[in-house]
Amino acid sequence: MKGPGLNTLCVHAAHHPDASTGAIAEPIFLSTTFERDADGEYPRGYRYSREGTPNRTALEGCLAALEGGVGAAAFASGLAANMALLDLLGAGERLVAPLEVYYGSVKQFAEVTRQRGAVLKLVDFRDLAAVKEALAGGAHLLWVETPTNPSLNVMDLKEIATLGHEAGAVVVADNTFATPVCQRPFSFGVDAVVHSATKYLGGHSDVLGGAVVVRQDAALLARLRAWQALAGTALAPFDCWLLRRSIATLALRVRAQCQGALQVARFLATHTGVERVLYPGLESHPAHALAAAQMRGGFGAVLSVCVAGDAARAMQVASRTRLFARATSLGGVESLIEHRASIEGPGSRTPQNLLRLSIGVEEPDDLVEDLRQALG
Ligand code: PLP
Repeated sequence: MKGPGLNTLCVHAAHHPDASTGAIAEPIFLSTTFERDADGEYPRGYRYSREGTPNRTALEGCLAALEGGVGAAAFASGLAANMALLDLLGAGERLVAPLEVYYGSVKQFAEVTRQRGAVLKLVDFRDLAAVKEALAGGAHLLWVETPTNPSLNVMDLKEIATLGHEAGAVVVADNTFATPVCQRPFSFGVDAVVHSATKYLGGHSDVLGGAVVVRQDAALLARLRAWQALAGTALAPFDCWLLRRSIATLALRVRAQCQGALQVARFLATHTGVERVLYPGLESHPAHALAAAQMRGGFGAVLSVCVAGDAARAMQVASRTRLFARATSLGGVESLIEHRASIEGPGSRTPQNLLRLSIGVEEPDDLVEDLRQALG
């Protein structure tokens, strides 16, 4: 039998009217501690909020359903979620990751592997032979992000998961950009999906959060949950509630944002003030066919544009927008524009003339007009 559709899951997964009051909106349980029964047991499942809260249970259940996994663990940020996975690395063990992932993740990989005496190998994941070579001799963790931040490169999840498993690695995919609306990494064999929930899952630029979803390995899920309690990095009840509420409209938002992004990308691709547009939804993107096969319902709502000119010209274009706010981050209902290299700082590999755009839910025609006047 066909399972529920995406919008149905977004509204109903792990969400029920409150048993004690009939409230349709989920109550927020701020209590840090929960009462024992006279016999000393905790039959309702909660003891102390660092270990678990009803709002976290609801959020984690919803995320597991959306990605199609056995369970999830919610954290205080995307990087805290990454950290729970990096804790799998022991001294001498290898993490193989792409040269291009979110710059904060790369910094974290470098620091964590250095501190633990683990080994970090960074390679270009568009080159599968290079990935295979990096995995020769085995690896403990294989990390992939697709589409990548900020160049919007697309990685072959199926091939990469297969290579990772042959090397004995746990294969992790950062699905922040695509969201489960556009990409289901578990259907390609990935073992764990990581999210910066700060982005599309939250969707309103008002909550910092992260999550790991596990495909089927119960021992891995138990280890992540143990880390949540041990490190004390679990997400607070109000933030869990905000995220669960936002996810009700995730598919509606993301599908509209993807359509807007495609329209904006097509406009920019024809503009004489633009050197190139990086967006996997454009037929001109080098991995458009792979993206079309691997993604569904859209190609995401982040795109990058290299303007004709230098950093100063890119800054000038960003300074002229009226609807796009000049701010970092992505995934919210409001469109954002940022000069990526200056945010990433020294050591950035991002071209100086690149602007990253996060498309919100405004009318795409209005966004196009804003960019037209900004490009002059
Ligand atoms: N992964 C990706 C792809 C991101 O873009 C980000 C943040 O921008 C993160 C992870 C880190 O998430 P957070 O900022 O919630 O810690």
